[in-house]
Amino acid sequence: MPDLIKTAKFGGTSMADFLAMTRCAQIVKKDPDKKVLVVSATSGTTNLLTQLFDSTCADEKRGILKQIRERHLTIAKSLDREAEISVKLINLLDELDEVSLSAKTVTPQLKDKLLSFGEMLSSTIFAEVVSQVTGEEVYWLDAREVMITDHHHTAAEPDIEAIAEKAEEVLLPLISEGRVVTQGFIGSTKNGRTTTLGRGGSDYSAALFAEAINADVLEIWTDVTAVYTTDPRIVPDARPITEISFDEAAELSVFGAKVLHPATMVPAVRKNIRVYVGSSIQPEKPGTWILKETRSHPVIRAISLRRDQTLITVHSLDMLHQHGFLARLFRVLSKHKISVDLVTTSEVSVSLTLDTGANAPGRENFNEEVRKELSEFCQVEIENNLSLIALVGNNLHTTSGLSGPVFGALEDINVRLICHGASSHNLCFLVDSKSAEGVVQVLHKKFITDRIK
Ligand code: ASP
Ligand code: MG
Repeated sequence: MPDLIKTAKFGGTSMADFLAMTRCAQIVKKDPDKKVLVVSATSGTTNLLTQLFDSTCADEKRGILKQIRERHLTIAKSLDREAEISVKLINLLDELDEVSLSAKTVTPQLKDKLLSFGEMLSSTIFAEVVSQVTGEEVYWLDAREVMITDHHHTAAEPDIEAIAEKAEEVLLPLISEGRVVTQGFIGSTKNGRTTTLGRGGSDYSAALFAEAINADVLEIWTDVTAVYTTDPRIVPDARPITEISFDEAAELSVFGAKVLHPATMVPAVRKNIRVYVGSSIQPEKPGTWILKETRSHPVIRAISLRRDQTLITVHSLDMLHQHGFLARLFRVLSKHKISVDLVTTSEVSVSLTLDTGANAPGRENFNEEVRKELSEFCQVEIENNLSLIALVGNNLHTTSGLSGPVFGALEDINVRLICHGASSHNLCFLVDSKSAEGVVQVLHKKFITDRIK
């Protein structure tokens, strides 16, 4: 057994083509501790598979299937053992054609089954690339043997105990022999039905694998060199963060930083696994360490922006000195599986935010029926096109003199809702989406750029 066990995840852009896969294999080769290699589908493939699922036209489906076939067989052309690997790919691709073209009903089960082919194909090629580059024997594992989930198709919940058991049974023995390549994102119910963990779920898979084998380090190799103080497309002098705590990183991913899937930190925190984020394109550039304890504890480490927020405000004079109103309100939301992010209340009204972005799970749940049910006991007001800005750092709730400069910077901006105090790691507020980028620029300059100078 190696001294350290590392689980490394390579995302879609890291799997884009033969060259990208080769770069990842070279990263692997340098480090004998990288034992479990978890991969995403090649970039764009999960989107194509989603289109395939959505399509109702046989010709369109055939076109998409052809594109998927060509892109994978083209990558395989660069392999030394092209013939052997192409046979495996063709088997998978034929099965995909069959599942897609013969489907009679459109179900979440079918969606998971179709989407799973993306990772099955990429991992089949990548295992071969790693073996070719390292000269080692590499084991390919069907993640569904280990990643046991519930049957909530398209957003399945992992069964941590079952995963640990299976990892011990199947994965650990393989690791003692050599490196293992497996798929992110996909899992299986106890009855063997394919599930997925939700879009972007490969990070989460990698963290769950790391947890199950008691890994020391989880590495996320992606297309950015590090976690940044804010989105560099909004603030060009945003800087890479060298280290950040679990709590801060969790807030950042929840509040919109696209680097990690929000659930990724959960297993890492449970098992105190150090997480590293780096770029597979420029692996020599320093990345970000996400740790339980960091040496520095800045009040504001990063600023995130999450678009497509909806603010719902409910008023009712019945709320005045009454009990049970909030319970009733949340009962309705819970019945319709509506996930609320922020809440503020006054004596007679409650405001809540919902994520209505394209990939937000359950975004369509807030429908006319819910509105009707709510209007039976309160007035409902809905505002769209809002963005949530979060300042993430340490002791924000007890740092005196913070809100003055923050809101001073927002003088001309209409701030729709503020949440401050519930968490020591964030202060967040909603603004009109049109002003959001400008606000991030001003705050970043004031609290990060000018402070570090
Ligand atoms: N391939 C899946 C997706 O695109 C999972 C992932 O990349 O993390 O959502
Ligand atoms: Mg991805």
